[in-house]
Formats: sequence, structure tokens, C-alpha cells
Amino acid sequence: MLRYLLFFLCVTSLFGFNFEIVNPDVANGKTALIRFEKQKGVIFKDIRVGKKNFPIFENPLKKGEYCALVAFSYYDKPATKELYAEYEENGQKKETLLFLHLHAGAYKKETIQVDPSKVNPKAPAVKKRIAREYAQAMQIYNHVSSKNYLREPFILPIESSITSEFGKARVYNGSLRGYHSGTDFRAKVGTPIKAANDGRVVLAQKRFYSGGTVVLDHGKGIYTCYFHMSKFDVKKDALVKRGDILGLSGESGRVTGPHLHFSARINGVQVDPLQLITLMNNNILKGNNL
Ligand SMILES: [Zn+2]
Repeated sequence: MLRYLLFFLCVTSLFGFNFEIVNPDVANGKTALIRFEKQKGVIFKDIRVGKKNFPIFENPLKKGEYCALVAFSYYDKPATKELYAEYEENGQKKETLLFLHLHAGAYKKETIQVDPSKVNPKAPAVKKRIAREYAQAMQIYNHVSSKNYLREPFILPIESSITSEFGKARVYNGSLRGYHSGTDFRAKVGTPIKAANDGRVVLAQKRFYSGGTVVLDHGKGIYTCYFHMSKFDVKKDALVKRGDILGLSGESGRVTGPHLHFSARINGVQVDPLQLITLMNNNILKGNNL
């Protein structure tokens, strides 16, 4: 901790802006938040981590404060991560190196029995469909909209109990297949599902694994996803407000029973949706902070 503090003090006195890493010790599958104070002559650009760039954007609720969400994949290994804050100062391109610590999240394992045809699909037509849907989804998630739709704190898409948390290692019919990529909420078929925040519908479609799927673009590379739905009340490209009904929950796709699978992406990286929402609501979407 002292190391970060010293570095923080050092950097803030040397460079043209003040910043704060809100959560400098973060687990795989989680999001880090960095806040920057606007300084005269400084134009913030991106945070670069490895080959990925995360935009630095103005807090929609606080003029003059900038922030960046830096997402770490579930598969990222514990390490000291180097983050380059890219900016322009008086017309010159510059960057500042920031550090944060990535540790291994305490994720559990769970065993699931599903229809074998949904675990190892063999039919060429099904394999083709899965590949096509994956490519389409990644194209959506990797697009960073310059517009920011967020104006208020996030809400949950349903008020219900959580039946499976993000990050559990999953053993389908005896073989380990990745991890749980979202948060599951108990929902009997036909329960109204709400938009977690303002955004644009970029996908409303039936898909092989996720069943009836709605994806919302909140801008700046932030997406939320709603899986296994039985009915859509929105169409692609529609603008929605926080709390609008997107459709009804269901049990479509690869499921063991009816529920809502709620997930989030930051610049294509799948992250814990509840940690993201809490982080944003507590630090940037409440209007008056710092
Ligand atoms: Zn799920």
C-alpha cells in the first residue's frame, strides 16, 4: 500500500494533472476506476494496458472531472499492471505510467448438468451458428461509442435473489468449461426485465447459448446484457431509459431452468456486473464526489 501511496504522491506532483486510482488492488474479472482532475492545457485521451485502450471520459454528472474504467479479464494472472495514461499537454502527446495490483479473485467452482447437445454441439450448422453469433457479439462489444448515455446511477434489472455469482468456475456434465460470465437472478418465466441504465439497444435476438438476448450500449465501451429471455419489448437501435422494460425473462438457450443472466462488458472485456455497477454508482454516478 505504501508503495502506491509514494508513487501517487510522486506522480501527482510531477505531472500536469491529479489522479486517483479508486481501487488500486483489483481482482481478475473486475474493473478498476481512475479519476482525473482537469488541468488547463491537458486533454485526456486513453488508458493503455497491454494492447487494450480504455477511453478517459468526462464524468457525465460532474463537469471537469474525468474518469476511466479499466477492465481485467477473468483469465488475467496476478501481477503489477502497468497503465499508461495518454494525454496531450499544450499540443504535445504525452503519457504517464500508473501502477495497480491485480490479485486472484476468490472464485468458487460449480457443477452443472445440461442437455449434452448444448455442451458439445456437433452438427456443422449449429457450430456455424455459434461461430457467427460469437463474431457478431465481439464486433458489438469491441465498438466504443463516443456518446455517453449515462446520466444516473445504475439499477438492477430485476429485484430478486442471486442464484449464481459471477466468476464461478463451471463444470458442465463433468468437464471444466470456463467460468460463469455474469450474475444469475431468480426469475420465473414472464418476469419483466428492466434496463439497468440509459442506453441504445444494439442486439435483441434469439441466440444459441444465451437464448433471447438483449444488449444495451451505454456509451464509452460500457455494455450490459440480458440473457435467456422469452419475449422482447424493444427492437434493435431503440433508445431506452433506465427502468424501461426490455422484455420478459425466460429459460431459452443453455440453461438448467428459468432465470435472468445479467452481464457486462467494458471495451470487450467481460467483467463482474455488480462490482462494476457498485463502483460506478459509489464514485462517479452520484453527482457530487471527490
Ligand atoms: Zn448465468
